[in-house]
Parts: sequence; structure tokens; C-alpha cells
Amino acid sequence: MRGLAPNATIGIIGGGQLGRMSAMAAARLGYRCHILTPEPDSPAAQVSAECTLGDYEDPEALRRFASAVDVITFEFENVSAAGLDLLGSMRSVRPSPSVLRISQDRVAEKSFLRDAGVPTAPWEAVGSRAELGVAVEALGLPAVLKTTRLGYDGKGQAVLREQAVLDAAWEALAPKPLILEGFVDFACEISVIVARGADGGGSVFDAMENRHRDGILDLTLAPARVPPGTAAEAGRVAWRVAESLELVGLLAVEMFVDRSGRVVVNEIAPRPHNSGHWTIEACPASQFDLHIRAVAGLPLPPGLRHADAVMKNLVGPEEVALWPEIVATPGLIPHLYGKAEARPGRKMGHVTRLFPRAELPDDAGIYKALGCIAPTR
Ligand code: AMP
Repeated sequence: MRGLAPNATIGIIGGGQLGRMSAMAAARLGYRCHILTPEPDSPAAQVSAECTLGDYEDPEALRRFASAVDVITFEFENVSAAGLDLLGSMRSVRPSPSVLRISQDRVAEKSFLRDAGVPTAPWEAVGSRAELGVAVEALGLPAVLKTTRLGYDGKGQAVLREQAVLDAAWEALAPKPLILEGFVDFACEISVIVARGADGGGSVFDAMENRHRDGILDLTLAPARVPPGTAAEAGRVAWRVAESLELVGLLAVEMFVDRSGRVVVNEIAPRPHNSGHWTIEACPASQFDLHIRAVAGLPLPPGLRHADAVMKNLVGPEEVALWPEIVATPGLIPHLYGKAEARPGRKMGHVTRLFPRAELPDDAGIYKALGCIAPTR
């Protein structure tokens, strides 16, 4: 395949920061982007040639969008099955609708991973209060109860530590059905991002380490501070997932490293991922470049990294208020997403700090290097 010609239009579903940074990478490769989003003045549309303002479930909007673009990709994966079918009938959709269907539903995702021979936490599908009781019997406590759909940033889940909370947890979580997962006592959380082309070739970035605060990604360290064997295993697992999905596009695989050093997959996202933002500065081709290249059918350069890096998210009004100090601090590489309103918990931007390869400092050194934006705990 020769790949999408320069000046062609890539349609991106979703108007958030992942679409914004994908569109910026696409522009560098000579492509135009067209965003579909219900949100006026979205981060992605601000930097793109065209925008269709419309609901992801509105067939008329989907049709108008698809007819105006050459290929379709996503930065947001919760489009309904009917919507995906409609898009797929009109244009090439990358990753394919079948990949999106798997990643939209935690039970479909966990079943797929099991069939692909990829380790996950033990789990049980939970469709009723009675099934929750049976699942708790099978998996024991603590366990994590999650919605199967529409969960993000730690929303739509609850850690169950005792029988007494089961009723309340069942009532509180929506939409149903749910899934119960065994609690993984992890040493750290890591992720790997891979790109795979239509010809089956691909690129794998080094594993990175992720730290969350209040369920939201706070800090990413690249590379992850794990033994080389663990990092290599994480890369192999991520690639196996991409191959099993027959992915064409980009995929982030979130994993736990348990106390014995074993890699356990938590979830997959077939799109650019917050934990890969550091690749913009630390790699010759970033996750966004590889996303666009895979979708456009261009050759995929390897996921090389020429520096170590730390990425700190700017979340909510308190952190974005530090912007004047951030832009005044040498060494901090600032990104803002163009969001007008800084609501609590909203990702407003991020900051990257580079270090020479193999010189990622310890936590104290990282916090010192982040200066005014160092995590407070
Ligand atoms: P998720 O929405 O599945 O990415 O989960 C959000 C966060 O909750 C993860 O990053 C973990 O910190 C924690 N978590 C999720 N599932 C489990 C689990 N089975 N065991 C322990 N912690 C979990």
C-alpha cells in the first residue's frame, strides 16, 4: 500500500487533547484533519482544518463527516455499534470497528485477552446483585467492581473491602452490567504503546511507569523503573495484544507489575494515550506521529527514545493556575489544550521534562526538576 497522499483529509472522532495532538502531528506530515465532536471550540477543532459539530450517535452527522474525509480514526472510542457500522460502510476506519467494540466493554476486553493468552486479574461478569454475591465468593475480597462500559479516570468503579458494602456498591455503580476483578496488589503500574500497520509491521515504545492521583494519571516516568526482563515482557505482551486484534493504528496497554514481577494487563485503549505524551519530545517519532502514520498507511519508524522523560499532567484549576511559573521555568516543556474552563479533575495540559538517557533521577530528583509543578504528595 502506498499510503494516503499529502493533503488528504483524516477524520478524527472526538475533539479532546488526544485529537488535538494527533492533528498537530498530521499537519506536520502534510495532512488535513476534520474533527467530529458535539463540543463547540474543542481542543482538536482549534488546530484542525474542518469540524463537523454533531452527536456521535446522529446518523446524519456521521454521514456528513464520513463523506468529507478520506480515512477515519478515533481519539474517543465510545461510538455505538450502529454508528461504527455506518462509518465502516462509508470509509476505511482505523482501528477497525471490531477493535473498538472490544475496547468499549470490559467483559469483551477481558474475554478477548483470555483467548489471546494474555494475563489479567481474575474476573467475573456481574449482571445482578445475586451474581455479585457469587463473584465475591469466587474471587474473595478485596476486589474491584467496575462498570463494563463508559468508565474513565477511575470513574465507574469501587474497591470492595468487606461484605457490608456490596449492596451500596451494586446500587451506586451505573450503567449496569458490571464486572468484578480480583484486587491486584501491584508494585507499580506501567503501560506500553505500540503501533501496527496494515502490513503487520509495527513499533513498540519502551514501557513507562504511571502514577495516579484521585484516579487520574498524575505522573509518567519513561522508562519505567522495572527490571529489564519485566520491561521486555511488557513489550511482548503489548505486541501480542496488537497482533491478536489485527490492529491497524495505535494501542496503549495498561498493566500492573505485581509483587512477584509478573505483568498483568488492566486495560487496553486503541488510540493515543495520556501516558505517551512524553514521546512528543523524547522520541524522533511520537505516539501521535505513529498514530497518524499507521492510519495513513505510511511506513512506521521504530519507537526509539533519545532521552529519559517525566510527564506531569496539569489537572483542574489549581494546577493550571501555576501556568505563569511553568512557562517561566527553564527545562519544563509546557503544553496547554485550549480548554476555556478549568473544572476540578479536568486535564488542562501537561508538562514534560527531559533527562539524558539512563539519567532519570530518583523521586526526589524528579520532584526537584519539576519545580513549581512537582506533585504535592
Ligand atoms: P481502570 O479504570 O481500570 O484503568 O482503573 C483505574 C485505576 O484503578 C488503575 O489505574 C488502578 O490504580 C486501579 N485498579 C483498577 N483495577 C484494579 C485491580 N483489579 N486491582 C487493583 N487496582 C486496580
